[in-house]
Amino acid sequence: MSVVTRFPPSPTGFMHIGNARTALYNWLYAKHNGGKMLFRIEDTDRARHSEEAVVAIVNGLKWLELDWDGEIVSQFERQARHAEVARTLLEKGHAYYCYCTPEELTEMRERAKAEGRPPVYDRRWRDKNADGKPLNGVNPVVRIKAPLTGETAVNDHVQGNVRVANEQLDDFIILRSDGTPTYMLSVVVDDHDMGVTHVIRGDDHLNNTPRQMCIINAMGWPVPEYGHLPMILGPDGAKMSKRHGAASVEEYRDMGYLPEALRNYLLRLGWSHGDDEIISTAQAIEWFGLDHVQKAAARFDFAKLESLNAHYIQNADNARLLELIGPFLQKRHDLSIGGDDTAQKRLLAGMDELKKRAKTLLQLTDEGAFYAKKIPYSFDEKARQTLNESGEILKILYSSLSALNFFTAAEIEATCKKIAEDHAGGKLGKVAMPLRAALTGTAVSPSIFHAAEIFGREETLARLKFSGS
Ligand code: GLU
Repeated sequence: MSVVTRFPPSPTGFMHIGNARTALYNWLYAKHNGGKMLFRIEDTDRARHSEEAVVAIVNGLKWLELDWDGEIVSQFERQARHAEVARTLLEKGHAYYCYCTPEELTEMRERAKAEGRPPVYDRRWRDKNADGKPLNGVNPVVRIKAPLTGETAVNDHVQGNVRVANEQLDDFIILRSDGTPTYMLSVVVDDHDMGVTHVIRGDDHLNNTPRQMCIINAMGWPVPEYGHLPMILGPDGAKMSKRHGAASVEEYRDMGYLPEALRNYLLRLGWSHGDDEIISTAQAIEWFGLDHVQKAAARFDFAKLESLNAHYIQNADNARLLELIGPFLQKRHDLSIGGDDTAQKRLLAGMDELKKRAKTLLQLTDEGAFYAKKIPYSFDEKARQTLNESGEILKILYSSLSALNFFTAAEIEATCKKIAEDHAGGKLGKVAMPLRAALTGTAVSPSIFHAAEIFGREETLARLKFSGS
């Protein structure tokens, strides 16, 4: 049997980090088994529905580079089919019409509570064989006939054997009085019709599973395999939410994380392969299974994600990094490098040095921006102060660098050392810092000798001059 997994998010407007991990695990499980991952949007909540919310999820998946098989399925568009299954269940005697009014249901709950019983529907319409026509102005709902005895066992690949006494299942509603299906019905029908063999989802759905199995069994359909994943918690131990600063995939993208770093991080957040921390996507596909998914909720560790990101930035292709920092340069520094060949060339030449230091693309952007700036550029406070204190050194730097035969990092460094010995008591920093301040407008950059070589003599001298020497 070939494996079919699915990713069925509800479009909430953004892609939650927990959803991203669910998508990743479904994707890996499908890839590992040579199967398929299908993609369904659970868009039945029309009051809150918006196309942008769907686009946000699609973009989240695309950014994470998790592809799906086939067309995106809209749950809303399949409502007629869900209702048809409800009718089949009615015909088979596995479901029935119920005419209880909201007032009756409230009264039922209150009485049960007063008598110390669980506040569930008392099945008063279960054996009445009502025909579904309106009665005293009330349109009926359709309820499933849940088994009254025995138990339902979920053999969960993550949570183990979870058993529920059937009497606790309640005759829950599958079709509302307006004829629309409930989530419980829709999800089961869709999974069946889409040929889903493995349901891998958050453990907040574990309670739904015995109910969903009740519909599956009533239809005589095969029960899929289940794997319920533990929640992702914030560093403080509370469920990961907006409050923690970054609950959505878009936020990680905007903070300058690479998709492969986030994938690696999410993979390890809840699954392990020995002591391996850095796991490529190819290795993940080879090794992934539900057997090593941990049961306990996992805490998010930003420092660990950052160190993985640094690793992936260091190993990323320079041209790709250049492309990735383009939008950040625009947004954060108002620098457009699209048509600027000189800036692109300089950034590429400096990339090996820049990427060694960067934990995020934002850091890469900020520390590389000086390559893309044009005279006149501004100086930050520290750089301005260094320049103010280094008038004489700057003049000497200007004349020494003008006279250099070979404008290479090694020669530039040797010249700076000589200047330091002759004029700054041997302190190289007294020369390198003003050079850095002049060339970059900041006090932080990779090797400034290397940067000067990339700029070349003409630009280096022009920048020194502009900086006041
Ligand atoms: N739409 C549900 C959610 O976003 C997923 C349901 C499921 O995986 O069965 O939580």
